[in-house]
Amino acid sequence: MSGPLVGVVNAGSSSLKFALYEAERRVLSGAVDGIGTRRPRARAAEAGGAELAPPLPDPPPATPGEAVTALLPWLRDWLGGRRIAAIGHRVVHGGVRHTRPTLVTPGLLDELEALVPLAPLHEPHNLAPIRAVLTLDPAIPQVACFDTAFHRTMPEVEQAYALPLALHEAGIRRYGFHGLSYEHIASVLPERAPGIAGGRVVAAHLGNGASACAMRAGVSVATTMGFTALDGLPMGTRCGDLDPGVVLHLLRQAGMDARAVEDLLYRRSGMLGLSGGVSSDFRDLLASEDPRAAFAVEVFCHRAARHVASLAGALGGLDGLVFTAGVGENAAPVRAAICRACAWLGVELDEAANAAHGPRISAPGSRVEARVVPTDENRVIVRHTLALVGG
Ligand code: ADP
Repeated sequence: MSGPLVGVVNAGSSSLKFALYEAERRVLSGAVDGIGTRRPRARAAEAGGAELAPPLPDPPPATPGEAVTALLPWLRDWLGGRRIAAIGHRVVHGGVRHTRPTLVTPGLLDELEALVPLAPLHEPHNLAPIRAVLTLDPAIPQVACFDTAFHRTMPEVEQAYALPLALHEAGIRRYGFHGLSYEHIASVLPERAPGIAGGRVVAAHLGNGASACAMRAGVSVATTMGFTALDGLPMGTRCGDLDPGVVLHLLRQAGMDARAVEDLLYRRSGMLGLSGGVSSDFRDLLASEDPRAAFAVEVFCHRAARHVASLAGALGGLDGLVFTAGVGENAAPVRAAICRACAWLGVELDEAANAAHGPRISAPGSRVEARVVPTDENRVIVRHTLALVGG
């Protein structure tokens, strides 16, 4: 091996995903799942495909920060004396100020810590591994890559909720998420789809979390997620857009407290809730014969198509429609339903191309070019990390 090694860390509430890149080539990837449960599991795979099982200590790590510390001895062994040149982290929230990835300093960490109230379910987990590395090896440069940064180009009218202006100024506004994924899409479109890259494109990141973004020449002008990653499209277990009156009703009339409502909206709604508990996973839903599973998928596609239209409105028209992430890249029936519902916007689906997952899924004469473009958030993180540490 040669060239600098860059680590990528993506930490959530119960999992820590990590990868090592040599330049832009992934040489190792892995994850610790089930953090906080009694039996977390660690797995890893080398680029060649060799499966590894990093051991976890007893007691096992209870937080993503502890998971970093727990993995370290194994990682040192694997590295065999090579040094990690830098680590890039996916950080969900960069607030209003951070419009690009930023080199981590203790000052930046304090600033990001102040954003925790804006993303209490994600930000602490993203920051813990950064602190852990800072403690273990302060000499390793670290870069925070924000999911909100790509959307800071959205005009103020797009960011504003119709609440008292003072709240807008206090930071209660549409931030938007999945920015690293959209940045990847924007970066590859000029090569893969030069006909639409400079135009009006809606990109739909349909995964466990789902959102869509309106881009003009690769720049975000509107997006479906808002103040939190709960807004917009329905998701695996999250509700997507919802009349705020429902929340008030649940608090007042149904006797739920904030924690119970949070659990309902984040973990028991979306596809899982709508399907009556069949699954949050589109593979299960599409394979199920339960009519409630079909209903959940139908609601998802309907809402996704409505959002595509709304974003096309923000763009003043539509030239391209891009599908990405787990569902967007793999679920042909979902793409087909969304494209059919967008026929009036000029999307003409090529059924065979769609069944083959594209890359181009619109018919040759289609006014709107529809495509499948695989996302790669890690690559964006690696590129930014190398750029900032001078690799
Ligand atoms: P995350 O938001 O966790 O990164 P992914 O982008 O990996 O999620 O997307 C996960 C979703 O993609 C799941 O609902 C899964 O069912 C769906 N998915 C993955 N592969 C397929 C497939 N072959 N057909 C249908 N859905 C798929």
